[in-house]
Amino acid sequence: MKRFLSIGSFLLALAGCGQTPEKPSMPETLGEGNKPQQALWPALQSPIQKDAALEKEIASLLQQMSLEQKVAQMIQANIVSITPEEMAELPIGSVLNGGGQTPGNNPNATARDWAQLADEYYRASMNPRGGFVPIPVMWGTDAVHGHGNVIGATLFPHNIGLGASGNAALVKAIGSATAREVAATGIDWNFAPTVAVARDLRWGRTYESFGQDPALVAKLGAAAVEGLQGELGSDKFLGPRRLAATAKHFIGDGGTALGDDQGVTQGDEQILAAIHGTPYAAALEKGAQTVMASYSWWQGVHSHANSYLLTDILKERMGFDGFVVSDWQGVGHIESCSLDSCAEAINAGIDMIMVPNSPDWRQLLANTVAQVQAGEIPLTRINDAVTRILRVKKRMGLWQKSAPLVRPAVIEQWVGNYQHRAIAQQAVRESLVLLKNNNTALPIAGNKTVAVIGEAATQIAAQAGGWSVTWLGRDNPNDKYPGATSLFEGFRAALESQGGEAFYAANAEFKRPVDAAIVVIAEEPYAEMYGDIQNMDTLALGPAQTKALETVSALKARGIPVTVVYLGGRPRWLNPLLNTADAFVAAWLPGSEGQGVADVLIADSEGKPRYDFKGRLPFDWPKNPCDAEIGKFEPAFAAGFGLSYSAATVSWQALPEYTRTWQYGCLLGEHLPEAKPVVLNQMSGWQAYIELETLERQPITPKAAFEAVSAKAQLGGRQFDLTFNGLQQPRFILRNGQTHNEFLPQLAREGALSFDIQLLKRPDGKVNLGMLSGHLASSYVDITPTLIQLPVAQWFRLSLPLKCLADIRADMNKIDAPMAIEVDGSARFIIRDMEIELGGGNGKQLDCKP
Ligand code: BGC
Ligand code: BGC
Repeated sequence: MKRFLSIGSFLLALAGCGQTPEKPSMPETLGEGNKPQQALWPALQSPIQKDAALEKEIASLLQQMSLEQKVAQMIQANIVSITPEEMAELPIGSVLNGGGQTPGNNPNATARDWAQLADEYYRASMNPRGGFVPIPVMWGTDAVHGHGNVIGATLFPHNIGLGASGNAALVKAIGSATAREVAATGIDWNFAPTVAVARDLRWGRTYESFGQDPALVAKLGAAAVEGLQGELGSDKFLGPRRLAATAKHFIGDGGTALGDDQGVTQGDEQILAAIHGTPYAAALEKGAQTVMASYSWWQGVHSHANSYLLTDILKERMGFDGFVVSDWQGVGHIESCSLDSCAEAINAGIDMIMVPNSPDWRQLLANTVAQVQAGEIPLTRINDAVTRILRVKKRMGLWQKSAPLVRPAVIEQWVGNYQHRAIAQQAVRESLVLLKNNNTALPIAGNKTVAVIGEAATQIAAQAGGWSVTWLGRDNPNDKYPGATSLFEGFRAALESQGGEAFYAANAEFKRPVDAAIVVIAEEPYAEMYGDIQNMDTLALGPAQTKALETVSALKARGIPVTVVYLGGRPRWLNPLLNTADAFVAAWLPGSEGQGVADVLIADSEGKPRYDFKGRLPFDWPKNPCDAEIGKFEPAFAAGFGLSYSAATVSWQALPEYTRTWQYGCLLGEHLPEAKPVVLNQMSGWQAYIELETLERQPITPKAAFEAVSAKAQLGGRQFDLTFNGLQQPRFILRNGQTHNEFLPQLAREGALSFDIQLLKRPDGKVNLGMLSGHLASSYVDITPTLIQLPVAQWFRLSLPLKCLADIRADMNKIDAPMAIEVDGSARFIIRDMEIELGGGNGKQLDCKP
């Protein structure tokens, strides 16, 4: 049984019990040897001079606001969790739509529908009931490569492709086109640009990064801010067609160990400042109005709780006078916090709290007010946060902008406008990186007949990637992208217009004679941690590569010149394909305008290129399957590499191909360490919870739970007396907040989860047994058929073969709950002596599929 908790509910679970997901075992904050060194960071001043009149207006507003309204200004909920009606009752400062969230849950909502909802929120915030001061609400969205949640919007190449273009003017133009499309739907604020400097190719957000080089990220990040907000000092700045930009995620999101999303940022303060801090300085110098905190940890402190970095560095040293927004449920990641209570983050310097769901945001409001009254949060901190929020709203002219439906910028036709698509198409052309071009396989003359092979050539979702229509961008049929052009359609149009032709083929077995073939290969779309390459995997592309290689080899055997086009969010290990194909193009995630690829690959009918390659690798390209950490390997092609038609040809040096399997991934290498049994209840730090369907957790008090069992006392045995009283699907979870590499060898081959069980009351519903991994995955097996056959009041030992938990293998290095039991109904039993054993285990074997 496979269950992926939605990330939203998973984080809720973590917060419900005041537990953090994975408090990494790192040195304590800034201890000896870790003295803060502010001098490592640039000393900046806000590039926008304080406007005395504006500050006075803010001060006077502040004076009229009750404490409740001040705190409400600091809250951001999602559009699913607050209606305009509720906004009028309790005007909060901001709303957002999360990835894939649309007005009325209608994925086909038109630009007008979006503006309509924005209008309703705005009017509610300006006509509040109950004596609140009217303050315009501000709506934030993730238009990270165009207005991706809105059907029919222009989708620009993801940042990795823009990094390849290196073209700041282009990035700026994309920023203003994006701003226009977003403003056209009545939305004011973009959670972009991501200015992460990705340093490990395993990170699932590598494609949101402009590149591995802080200077490149700084240059393009600054350009994006300028495009979105308009140029500082000009009357375009935060003008009617512009948005507030967000530099995110502060700080070190791209620098986590193993490329683990939301993981632990590596390096000392020098590295933090020089690598990850550089783009922030550049974005702030262009006047970026908001900064989003990162889910990552640094030196044992969660970024949302790091007052040194948020306040001393960002706000004081770097002169940031806009506001800091927390990330989606980010406050729930702090140990001392839950989603509805987090004085620590506010005190650390978070100004607006993205606590998307209800009732969390309402409770957060009440709790925060109480914390101020109790002196846990100084009123001065609240006043500062609200001042910053009002300052940004004033600078944006939200009062004068009036309600969205009457804004001149709200013009439906701007969404997916042809001018914007032309900019996107140019960006696609400029983002393409040519890694190989033997026998001048490219360009292909426009009068030729070309076979285009590989499903990804026809699937817009594959070229759009994550944050497109839906959060993960997966499984969206082409009709979800009206106006978009697939790579195949682009090739066909280019060839047909020059007297040639193109046809689609599933593999190399077509009969028609052709002059050339183009094989398109893609990563599956993903977002955030869903894109992480886990330690049981390498950078090799797996089955997609094997299939493509067969196709390319078969085409070559027929004497057909082959070009491979790779669509994906990061360099992958593709050496066999690179060696076999004649030409190889990294096209990244080009977005909606797939015809930009044909512009460069297909020449005119005489074979003269219409456009040359301009793209240069934004990241080192791996030579070996485990070459993931930037700076720690000798690349096959270094960042900055890229061939072109005009430059001299380079002779191909074969890249190493491995006959080795790397079947245990990069952390373990080819050979598994020796497997050892792990006695779970002897390991330190375990905690047990009963988790309710509402994902609220009730810790089981250690006394009652960890009662020594005389018979097995010599094993340090503990027993859990578990009563499930008919509540819907409560779970028993054994977790110690650390992740466990010691289970890897057992999980990778033979092994079993064994335990003694004694039924006191036979279950009357389903019982599932499994494991959870810190981020997303859980794997369960239904053990009811075995349990209901056991006599009551007798001990039995059961063993669950770990191979039954196949779904969790991908996330194995994050296992933090090696035992979880779900009961749907009522039951009472005692369990003890939980152990991860070698081989099949010494208890009665449970079936993977009963
Ligand atoms: C992401 C942010 C995003 C936010 C709102 C988070 O999960 O990390 O980048 O802006 O959600 O959708
Ligand atoms: C994303 C949101 C998304 C949500 C889905 C968050 O982490 O940032 O944008 O809608 O997860 O549960």
